[in-house]
Amino acid sequence: KHAAKIRLDDVKGEQSKDKDKADRATSEQVLDQRTRMILLQMINRGFVSEVHGAISTGKEANVYGAVAYPDLDGPPIQRAIKVYKTAILSFKDRERYITGEHRFKSGAEKGNSRKMVKLWAEKEFRNLRRIHSAGIKCPEPIQLKLHVLVMELLGDRRGYAYPRLRDAAISSEDSEEVWRSLYIQLLGIMRRMYQVCRLVHADLSEYNILYNDRQLYIIDVSQSVEHDHPRSLEFLRMDIKNTGDFFRREGVDILSDRVVFDFITA
Ligand code: ADP
Ligand code: MN
Repeated sequence: KHAAKIRLDDVKGEQSKDKDKADRATSEQVLDQRTRMILLQMINRGFVSEVHGAISTGKEANVYGAVAYPDLDGPPIQRAIKVYKTAILSFKDRERYITGEHRFKSGAEKGNSRKMVKLWAEKEFRNLRRIHSAGIKCPEPIQLKLHVLVMELLGDRRGYAYPRLRDAAISSEDSEEVWRSLYIQLLGIMRRMYQVCRLVHADLSEYNILYNDRQLYIIDVSQSVEHDHPRSLEFLRMDIKNTGDFFRREGVDILSDRVVFDFITA
């Protein structure tokens, strides 16, 4: 329908001489044949039109910026594509999140990394859907195919992603009050996630929260567990501790972990 192009050498799986050297340096590895096929299929179906450079390259997944043109003359829509990696090693320690999850009783066979990454992408997609429909700010999930997840880009219209809370530049005169209100905002999000979505994030920290304009956004929910998961409360305590530690370092007079726990679960 529309001129669809893939810009990154990455996606083409080719090396061009010195073009986009920086991009390639940060994207660290070339996408495999299967992933390129899935991206092409998504381009053909219009979920994305262009795939750009890597926003993030992690142990378990890479996140790429992308653009879709839903209407020929309309404005482009910024998207993010999370591609889970099929490396077995980094997924081994994630088993504890899956074990005891009634939604995923079968299919989580160890040793099958392709099934595993598909499962993680699926979990992230479903959790995002749940969190998004509960009115919590997070990327809207758009499309899922095997280990490739297309979602809304949390960023500006030019495609620049919002910073992680860890890197947020909050330096106004009232920064103390801003930090305090962000802390309160996060407590509300955690409570809503528990009470409405029935989920515990299980990897919540200043690295998995994005920040823009006094608003927090929750990301990275593939490991999030049901509230009745055998270890959900242990994970919740960990989330409370990690986020509390961060806000304390930012100078917020935080509540005790116990009080926060009761607020979230009561
Ligand atoms: P992981 O930590 O497993 O590598 P994340 O889901 O945390 O994967 O994504 C890695 C980074 O990519 C995030 O810290 C964030 O900076 C960026 N990112 C992820 N999803 C989005 C999104 N929807 N919009 C903007 N940036 C994103
Ligand atoms: Mn993360």
